Amino acid sequence: MLTDMQIAVIGGDARQLEIIRKLTELDAKLFLIGFEQLQIQFTGVENEKMDGIDFSTIDALLLPVPGTNEKGEVETIFSNEKIVITEEILLKTPPHCVIYSGISNGYLNSVVKKAERRLVQLFERDDVAIYNSIPTVEGTIMMAIQHTDFTIHHAKVAVLGLGRVGMSVARAFHHLGAKVKVGARKSEHLARISEMGLEPFHLDEIKAEVRDLDICINTIPALIVKAAVIANMPAHTLIIDLASKPGGTDFRYAEKRGIKAILAPGLPGIVAPKTAGKILANVLAKLLAENDINQEETVK
Ligand code: NAP
Repeated sequence: MLTDMQIAVIGGDARQLEIIRKLTELDAKLFLIGFEQLQIQFTGVENEKMDGIDFSTIDALLLPVPGTNEKGEVETIFSNEKIVITEEILLKTPPHCVIYSGISNGYLNSVVKKAERRLVQLFERDDVAIYNSIPTVEGTIMMAIQHTDFTIHHAKVAVLGLGRVGMSVARAFHHLGAKVKVGARKSEHLARISEMGLEPFHLDEIKAEVRDLDICINTIPALIVKAAVIANMPAHTLIIDLASKPGGTDFRYAEKRGIKAILAPGLPGIVAPKTAGKILANVLAKLLAENDINQEETVK
């Protein structure tokens, strides 16, 4: 239980609702900032403006998945209030206050560091990334169906990268009957691809490996699907780029060549916000409880 823990939930989208629900069940005291247009009511939860919060009593501060933008602004779909996270605000929190977000950027890292607080990026955790790969796969399948006129079954599919997303995507497309090859650069990844019953190839060979592709799914957050690679693809190839912005594809060249290339970020929040929220809520509940225990031990 999180009884007596005071948590400020600042901005976000539908995923935050599952987090609010879970933390309320666990008896935490929640202050919601940037949710005043939300139709759902949570009992015992207070809606506040930024200047209405006594940050000195806050044990944890929950930011939405993107954290802030480079100006410190927090995205919120349930409010028109402009919310900015600053060093001054963080300095008002007690030293043990932990800031949680999905990802971070230069701005957020810098203000957290200056305020000497701890930032936890949930999407850096293997457990979150692996659970999150499940709705990502479903979104990828949806995109492949929407943007092709052939079945996934028997399609020639290349997955680039064997990380947490790449592995799940490759396995799911294989089980749907696609002929899946996976590109990686580490020999242990090539061995794993082979063990999974899939065709491995080294990324150095990518230009030759894309000659007969129907679908190319990139999960590598670096420019990997370069113009010279796209030039070798059949004209009907669909590129689905899952890597974080700006993706790993030369989209300008793909368009010039008439190859459909789609950057598809944030699929879990689009295809399954409830599940995506539950994944974050479960991990957060565990982390907050652990933090609470550590805090109590420090006080003793
Ligand atoms: P990950 O576990 O770190 O995997 C990344 C893979 O890319 C690894 O196999 C890594 O191989 C490879 N890689 C990285 N840099 C490379 C380079 N310069 N050249 C060749 N290979 C390289 O990450 P993940 O959790 O699978 O996530 C992959 C991407 O998808 C991230 O950008 C993430 O933000 C994004 N994502 C998108 C969605 C969505 O909805 N679109 C959902 C979740 C995640 P090595 O081990 O050899 O470095």
